[in-house]
Amino acid sequence: MAWFKKTRKPMAAPAKEKASRVPEGLWVKCPGCAQAIYNKDLAANFNVCPKCGHHFRLNATERLRMLFDGTWTEYDKDLVSTDPLVFTDTKPYKARLKAGIESTGMKDAVIVAAGSIDRIPTVVASMEYGFIGGSMGVVVGEKIARGIERAIAGRTPIVIVCCSGGARMMEGALSLMQMAKVCAALARLDRAGLPFISVLTDPTTGGVTASFAMLGDVNIAEPKALIGFAGPRVIEQTIRQKLPEGFQRSEFLLDHGMLDMVVDRRELKDVITRLLRFAGRPAGAIAPVAVEAVPGS
Ligand SMILES: [Zn+2]
Repeated sequence: MAWFKKTRKPMAAPAKEKASRVPEGLWVKCPGCAQAIYNKDLAANFNVCPKCGHHFRLNATERLRMLFDGTWTEYDKDLVSTDPLVFTDTKPYKARLKAGIESTGMKDAVIVAAGSIDRIPTVVASMEYGFIGGSMGVVVGEKIARGIERAIAGRTPIVIVCCSGGARMMEGALSLMQMAKVCAALARLDRAGLPFISVLTDPTTGGVTASFAMLGDVNIAEPKALIGFAGPRVIEQTIRQKLPEGFQRSEFLLDHGMLDMVVDRRELKDVITRLLRFAGRPAGAIAPVAVEAVPGS
């Protein structure tokens, strides 16, 4: 049985957003400058428009390829959601999971892997927007928390690349608990004296922003990324005021002290490397992280 029944006409869908993913085909029209870009040029440029610097979205694997020096070891690849609430909205949650698995080839919305960034052994968690909007359910929370535990056990830093619509409502309160779980793991990482760099990409919203995304020792965002808790429409309706230009975009948040830096994707790896070197190589780092079991699990 469905949890909700729509008796009234559903709300009209908002005006179609500009495509932020790279569409299929030989040429792509950039939503930033409206110029045609050769698809291969875009791929060679980390999906950043060579003409205006518009950042197209990267998927989780492309992100790891961009950050790591070479190959990486993926962890907890086979964790899958059990649909604990047997949730159905307009579609059963099971069907959404199946569609996500088919379209991304991943079992849930994050890849957690260990590798090296400019020879520094590091754990990276990379979120995948293509899987139910990068939403954080039990599996995402568990994989990230385990990734942090692995970083602690291996004495390495962790980088989390956020790209998420927030907590996964189809898992109800269980998805909200992931916020606390991941934050608690980050507190242990902090006590162990290990750095956490948070990379906020377009979009980072809801329960992800409200928990670990903002807890980095350094919070870095990509240019013009949407970062916020509630959406601008909801805020405008609540406070009955027009929001300022550029509200909830990286540059605005940087100006207002919510972020430490806004970094062009083409320089992101260099900046992260410099930050990790600045934080100092943790004593006893193992290369690569060779941890089989998660402590306490
Ligand atoms: Zn452009």
